[in-house]
Amino acid sequence: MNIAVVGTGYVGLVTGTCFAEFGVNVVGVDKDEAKIASLQKGKVPFFEPGLEEMVERNQREERLAFTSDMKAAVEKALVIFIAVGTPSSESGAADLSYVRDVALGIARYMNDYKVIVTKSTVPMGTGAMIRRLIEENQPRPIPFSVVSNPEFLREGSAIEDFMRPNRIVIGAEDPQAIAILKDLYKPLYLIETPFVVTNVVSAEMIKYASNAFLATKISFINEVANLCEAVGADVHEVARGMGLDNRIGRKFLHPGPGFGGSCFPKDTRAVLNMGREAGVPVRIIEAVMEVNERQGARMVDKIRRAVGGLKGRRLAVLGLSFKPNTSDIRESPAVRIAEELMREGAVVRAYDPAAMEEAQRTLRGLEYAEDPYDAARGCDAVIIATEWNQFRGLDWGKMKAALSSPVVIDLRNVYEPAQMKQLGMTYVCVGR
Ligand code: NAD
Repeated sequence: MNIAVVGTGYVGLVTGTCFAEFGVNVVGVDKDEAKIASLQKGKVPFFEPGLEEMVERNQREERLAFTSDMKAAVEKALVIFIAVGTPSSESGAADLSYVRDVALGIARYMNDYKVIVTKSTVPMGTGAMIRRLIEENQPRPIPFSVVSNPEFLREGSAIEDFMRPNRIVIGAEDPQAIAILKDLYKPLYLIETPFVVTNVVSAEMIKYASNAFLATKISFINEVANLCEAVGADVHEVARGMGLDNRIGRKFLHPGPGFGGSCFPKDTRAVLNMGREAGVPVRIIEAVMEVNERQGARMVDKIRRAVGGLKGRRLAVLGLSFKPNTSDIRESPAVRIAEELMREGAVVRAYDPAAMEEAQRTLRGLEYAEDPYDAARGCDAVIIATEWNQFRGLDWGKMKAALSSPVVIDLRNVYEPAQMKQLGMTYVCVGR
């Protein structure tokens, strides 16, 4: 089968490459010509473990190609995935302009029956909007199907998540499209992945409801952590005690500086906006977002208190990406905190194993270090902002020698308080 994946960002590139791995012929399309030129040479312009090797291999074996020629891609493909960005617009609603552009491109170049699949996270009703746009802009009536197939992969473990997902959601109204999608995903069917087949609008809603629920878990445990600090409880013990209840589950009960990244902030904003527009306010999500905002401020406050005021302080920030194993810094809590520290007059020396290049392109005012010890050099404290594995086993003798005072503010609770105390460090963490 020939398919096209439009948008070669985190989701589009992983989707296309993994389908190629399944034996499908895939062309990845992007309007960013520099990105396409880089991909044609086998270079992935961001960090995702294992992806570059897989791209290169599938290109070599001629199942994966890249182009910016939308016409050629649409003409050849039976299935076209839309995997472009849907960022927040000013109102908080998802900005669908990229999705619309792609739908118009498909309408213009359609030559035969096509299955048009949204992989991007899109508001309820987008499938219907795409259908209308294509019907109105086709040169002549050509049959097509619109499918919603939301993506749940996590950056940092995207390949594993795509290859072994908890479920595949297919929202479609006609049996032919469902059969084609099931055929594409056959290798996952064979490993007994549950398939949820529903209508388009319910599939669109499943994605937002899932992300909103996960964001809720994070804000919930952060509030519990804050309460733990006030009453002298240990949030890790509390989370474990809660999480062993199967109805609650252990995942996503880790306290920290709040959620960030390219999905949760924008998707919760979009849910709020959809609720407002539908006249059904989603009060829980309002609170979740407010708690998340406040959590960032609480972290800055923790740092301020630990070093006795921020003005003129030198602070090492370890980690800039919004989570480990990615170079993505979109709405990263680490970045938000570093920026606030600088706004209040601190000098920030940062180190990240993968996101430095991206940070240097977009952030002003940070000093960039070679490694964690170089970051700590002459600093009043070190802040663990992202829980990269390489920050879990730091040499604290070396750290102490580099720092001007032995203060650690561990916003990810990577270390044990007792152990840090024994090492002679002043240790501040979250909810313990
Ligand atoms: P991204 O910004 O990394 O990539 C989007 C790509 O689309 C870019 O390369 C851009 O150049 C390209 N593009 C934009 N308009 C185009 C057009 N008209 N024609 C061709 N290419 C075009 O975005 P992403 O992180 O991959 O997210 C894509 C979608 O998937 C979003 O809706 C997001 O919410 C959703 N999603 C993301 C994740 C994640 O972890 N990143 C997970 C699940 C779902």
